[in-house]
Amino acid sequence: MTILKVNEVSKIYDKKAAIKDVSFSFESGKCIALIGPNGAGKTTILRTLAGLLKPTSGTITFQGQKANDDIRKVIGYLPQHPHFPGWMTGEEFLIFSGQLAYLTKETASERAIELLNKMGLLDVKNKTIKTYSGGMKQRLGIAQAIIHNPKLLMLDEPVSSLDPLGRREVLTLMEDLKEQMTILFSTHILSDADEISDELLLLNEGELIEAGTISELRQKYQTTIIELQFQDNLKKYQEKVNVLASVVNSTIKRNTLYVSVTNSAQARRDILHAASANQWTLTSFSINQASLEDMFMKVVKT
Ligand code: ATP
Repeated sequence: MTILKVNEVSKIYDKKAAIKDVSFSFESGKCIALIGPNGAGKTTILRTLAGLLKPTSGTITFQGQKANDDIRKVIGYLPQHPHFPGWMTGEEFLIFSGQLAYLTKETASERAIELLNKMGLLDVKNKTIKTYSGGMKQRLGIAQAIIHNPKLLMLDEPVSSLDPLGRREVLTLMEDLKEQMTILFSTHILSDADEISDELLLLNEGELIEAGTISELRQKYQTTIIELQFQDNLKKYQEKVNVLASVVNSTIKRNTLYVSVTNSAQARRDILHAASANQWTLTSFSINQASLEDMFMKVVKT
C-alpha cells in the first residue's frame, strides 16, 4: 500500500529552487534512502514532508490523511542537527516529546521507559542529556521521533556525525526498526544506503534523477571494471586497450590499469586475445563490478 505520494513538489528561495518538481511515492514497510551530495536538497525534502516547510508548489499525500489533518500523528522526524535541552534528563525529554505528539502523560511515561530500554539508555535515564555521548544523543533522538509509534520515520543524516561505534549502533537500530515502520532517511554515505535500504531516491541539484531498488539501479548503470597489470610500461598498453571495441575508457592508478567495459565476456575475450597475439607482458587480470559510488558518479554526471 502506498504510504506517501509526493507530486511535483518544489521549494523556491529567492528565485532559486532548493528542490524542483520532485515526484515519488513508496509503499509502507520499506526502508528508503534519499541520497545526494551536499546541497542536493535532501534536508529540504525531509523538512517539507515533516510539515516544517511549506512547498512553493506541488502536493504531498499521506495514506489515510485528509488535507487539514495534523501529520505529526503519523510521522516521526529526526533533524540533521537536533537541539536537545541539555538540562533535561533523557526520560524527562521523552515524556515531554510524547506529550507534544499528543500522548497522555501516563502513556508517554510508559513509552519513554520502553524506548529507553530499547535504545540501551535505561541506565542513564536520570542523567542530564548534556552528559550523553553523540551516539547516545542520536539514539535518544530516534526514541523521540518514534515515541508516538509513527507510520513513517524520517531521519536526516542519522549517522554522518557519529564515530564508527555510534554509527554501527544506530545502523543496527535502524535495521531493527525497519521491521516495525516505514523509514525514509537521507545520507551521502552510499555504503550505509546499500547496507540497510530497500530503495534509493537519488537527488542532485534539487532534482530527483533516479529512483528504484539498488539492484534495479545497478542493472541500469552497471559497468564492469577489468583490472590489468603488466610487467612494463602501463601507458603503452592503455593506448592499445582503449581501441578495443568493448572498452569504454580506462585509467591508470599506481601499477594497475582500470578498464571500464560494457560487455564483460566480450571484453575479456578481446583483451586476452590481444595480449596473446601481441605478447603483452600481462601479469594480472581481474573482473570487478562497479561499486555503488561508481554508479552514483555516473548518474550524477548524466
Ligand atoms: P547537505 O547534505 O549539505 O545537508 P542537502 O542535500 O540536505 O545538503 P539542502 O539543505 O536541502 O541540501 O539544500 C538544498 C539547496 O537549497 C542548497 O543549495 C541550499 O543552499 C538551499 N537552501 C536551503 N535552505 C535555504 C534557505 N533557507 N534559504 C535559501 N536557500 C536555502
